[in-house]
Amino acid sequence: MATHKMKNLDEIQKIMLLLDEAYPLDIFCYLAYDKPWQLLIATILSAQCTDARVNSITPGLFAKYPTLEDFAKSCLEKLESDIKPAGFYHTKAKHIKETCKALCEDFGGELPSEMDMLTTLPGVGRKTANLIRGHIFNIPSIIVDTHVKRISAKLGFTENEDPAKIEIELMGILPQEHWTRYNTQIIAHGRAICTARNPHCASCVFSELCDWRKRGFDSKPIMKKKKA
Ligand code: SF4
Repeated sequence: MATHKMKNLDEIQKIMLLLDEAYPLDIFCYLAYDKPWQLLIATILSAQCTDARVNSITPGLFAKYPTLEDFAKSCLEKLESDIKPAGFYHTKAKHIKETCKALCEDFGGELPSEMDMLTTLPGVGRKTANLIRGHIFNIPSIIVDTHVKRISAKLGFTENEDPAKIEIELMGILPQEHWTRYNTQIIAHGRAICTARNPHCASCVFSELCDWRKRGFDSKPIMKKKKA
C-alpha cells in the first residue's frame, strides 16, 4: 500500500481504526433490496434523491414489477409515473427499462460483476458499478459518492475533484479490506458529524487527524451576508 503525499501510513491506519470504532458496521447498504438486480434499480433511482425516499418507493415498485422482464416490458409512461417521487423520472425510467432489457437479452437475466460490463448498462456509472461489485459480489470496491468526495478531501486523502480519480487515489492508500465499508461509514459520518454545510468538528473523532481542521477551517457559525 502506497502512502499518500499528505497522509502517512500511521495516520491512515488510525483513521481506519477510528472509523471502525465509531461506525462498527458489518458491510451493509442503505438501499433496501431482496434480489441483486433490485439493488441496481434502487441505485439508479437514488441519483439526486435520498436513500430514505428510494426505500419508500421500492417496496411498492418491486411488488408491481416482480421480475426483470416486467421492467423490460413495462410501459414507459406508467413506469415514469410509478417512480415520479424519486425525481428525474423521465431519464430514470428510460434507464431502468433499457438496463433491464439489456440484462434480459445480453446477460441471461443475471447481473455481471465486471466493471466493463456493468458500465455498458444505461444509467450505470462507476459509482453504481462499484456499489454492485462491493455489495452483491463482495469484490472490494471504492464507491465515490458526495460524502466520500467531500470528507476524503477534508481528511487529506485526495485533492482531486473527479470521482474516477478519487477512486483510484483511495484504492492506492486505503487498506483493501476497508474499501467497501469506507463508503458506508463515511456516509454515516457525513450525515451525523461532517455535514456539508456545517461540520461538527468539536465532536469529531478525527479532529486531531483531519487536514481541514488542522488548516484552521474549523466549523463556524453560518454568517448571514450583509446587505450591500
Ligand atoms: S474534523 Fe471536521 S472537517 Fe474533519 S472530518 Fe471531522 S467534522 Fe469533518
